[in-house]
Amino acid sequence: MVVAAEHIRTLNKYEKTILLALERGMKRYAWVPLEQIRTATKLSESEVNYRLSRLIAWGMVRFNPVPYDGYALVFGGYDTLALATLSRNGTITALGPLIGEGKESVVYEALGLGPVAIKFHRIGGRSFASARLNREYMEEGHCPWLIASRKSAEREFLALTKLHPHVSVPLPIGQNRHTVVMALIHGTILNRCRLECPREVLDEILDGVRRVYRAGVIHADLSEYNILVEDGRCVFIDWPQWVETTHPNAAVIVARDIDNILSFFVRKYQLTYDSRDAIQCVTG
Ligand code: ADP
Ligand code: MN
Repeated sequence: MVVAAEHIRTLNKYEKTILLALERGMKRYAWVPLEQIRTATKLSESEVNYRLSRLIAWGMVRFNPVPYDGYALVFGGYDTLALATLSRNGTITALGPLIGEGKESVVYEALGLGPVAIKFHRIGGRSFASARLNREYMEEGHCPWLIASRKSAEREFLALTKLHPHVSVPLPIGQNRHTVVMALIHGTILNRCRLECPREVLDEILDGVRRVYRAGVIHADLSEYNILVEDGRCVFIDWPQWVETTHPNAAVIVARDIDNILSFFVRKYQLTYDSRDAIQCVTG
């Protein structure tokens, strides 16, 4: 869940200063010492304590008293920082409703120059969070969820930038920290569509996969869940795990993408398509 949305407007400048100090501090500490926050923000002890208690209540920061009083940024706080930057630079002016929740992200509708989608990457929330509580697993200052989520967003944005407009992907609009802002697609996930002409749609998808491949890219997580159908047009989404066609396993990865799609069309529409022909059509 994104807790940032309801608090972003009420965030006071001291609270923002503390979040930024924590973000920097987490390059060195798993739990940033209170003293470090005070030094970095130059705020009084009572001010820091008061602001931290609010940030904790809002789910933006966590506290750990052992063996010293330490504080850590959590996704809610990172969301808030990203939204603050995106709204300051005009990419987003308002946050709308939740429109998608996947394995490793939450996606919201938002307002920019027009309607947009903002995807908050959530890599390793649970597993890393528990690892973080258990100090034995943590090198000091190593913050895997924050780094992995940011890298994931940067990687997705790079794919969209490479592929748009040669391939039908959402127009990339902006990127900050662990977020990607892109065009909002008013579509339905392929899995939930009832296609009138499945044959044509399958051909369009294979043609899309071929264009992606020509651009030197393989999606690597392609399935009926990562294609949106908007006015009969297929839009490929969810790109953070893409690989280059020069990847040592490229042949296996592209074949798996194609097989996912073909087996969906067999299952749902009894439409058969020779797998080798499809691979040939994409990579040939
Ligand atoms: P995940 O890795 O979590 O599966 P996705 O990129 O597939 O992330 O996004 C999750 C869901 O959010 C999608 O299934 C879709 O419903 C919605 N979504 C993602 N991007 C957009 C977009 N640009 N426009 C509209 N809906 C989107
Ligand atoms: Mn997905």
